[in-house]
Amino acid sequence: MGQQDLKQMDLDFVLHTYARNDVHFVKGSGARLYDSKGKEYIDFGSGIAVCSVGHGNARLTKAIYKQAKNLIHTSNLYLIEPQARLAKKIVELSGYDMRVFFANSGAEANEGALKIARKFGEENGELKRYQIITLDSSFHGRTISTLKATAQNKMHQYFGPFPDGFVYAKDLNDVPNKISNVTCAVLLELVQGEGGITPFDKAEVQKLAKILKEKNVLLMVDEVQTGIYRSGELFASQVYGITPDVITTAKGLAGGVPIGAVMTSLKDIFAPSDHGSTFGGNFLSTSAALEVLEILFEHKQSGELDKTITYFTQKLQDLQKHYAEIFTQEVGLGLMRGLRVRDLETLTKFLNATFEAGVLVLKSGKNTARFLPSLTITREEIDEGFLRIESCIAHL
Ligand SMILES: *Cc1c(COP(=O)(O)O)cnc(C)c1O
Repeated sequence: MGQQDLKQMDLDFVLHTYARNDVHFVKGSGARLYDSKGKEYIDFGSGIAVCSVGHGNARLTKAIYKQAKNLIHTSNLYLIEPQARLAKKIVELSGYDMRVFFANSGAEANEGALKIARKFGEENGELKRYQIITLDSSFHGRTISTLKATAQNKMHQYFGPFPDGFVYAKDLNDVPNKISNVTCAVLLELVQGEGGITPFDKAEVQKLAKILKEKNVLLMVDEVQTGIYRSGELFASQVYGITPDVITTAKGLAGGVPIGAVMTSLKDIFAPSDHGSTFGGNFLSTSAALEVLEILFEHKQSGELDKTITYFTQKLQDLQKHYAEIFTQEVGLGLMRGLRVRDLETLTKFLNATFEAGVLVLKSGKNTARFLPSLTITREEIDEGFLRIESCIAHL
């Protein structure tokens, strides 16, 4: 199908929730994508941190094919071997003493976390505790309650009335001020994915974790974007040396097959029928995730992941130093990185220029270029991406 016809069909039949780029990708391999005109792109976005093991990964493809041929779905009314294996693997690799529930997306994983917090608040304390504190510039999803959990007023323009009980803190230090006798949990990202890619300070996070423990308020970490080795460890919580009560994850977990997970040390918080999902944790998505975790675990063990992080970071830092009049700062954690651009206009120009030059870069917040390459990206792919960026930057 020609690109114009496709574009028209998309406009005619798909709801207009996305301001799409005018490109039609037809094939991918590693960190490379190819559009219908044969143009090649280096993908520094990975479908927003989803394609963690790259495009067209042979091992992942094989695992998906093998499972699909056998069984895709039976429902959670019956035992599901890859689901149980995946839960065990996530728990063991993380070192956190938890149990896992599988959903289909980040928002749905966070919905699970909110329900855990509410049930915990109902059962622990003299008062029914229901308030959940979240942070300014956070992002937790697009469902009605995760939208309300997202502390960005511009996202609450329509869709009300929202569920009650969300309280916003300005920053980490402001969280204790917002705790009341009806607070049950704090939900936060350790590196805000949509809020500018600035990692929170480790000592401040640890201090807050201690305060929350003393006050019997749950610490829930949204690792939908930071999770699954994006930070260099399975979870960013491990990098921060904290033990959250609840962790949610999703994006990179099954390399592109939809999946979400919420895990908690409150192992018996839910009883049968308290929570559920028709698709969540089915044979296909959990088999894909098992293979992804195997690939990434090996990548980490061999030292390759850490080398890639160092290499990619160095490239970005060099770029920042070289063009300090454009990029004011290099920020991030692991392979979740950002370049602070001097203003929004320049950022828009930069993103358009890199796209034209054949590199996919994302945006975060008001003035940050966001880089989320696949975790298995090669040196050669990184070099090629940065060469193309350098080639177009002079024209900004
Ligand atoms: C992407 C994202 C979500 C939402 O995930 P969906 O799969 O789009 O529902 C939630 N929290 C964070 C931190 C995210 O990056």
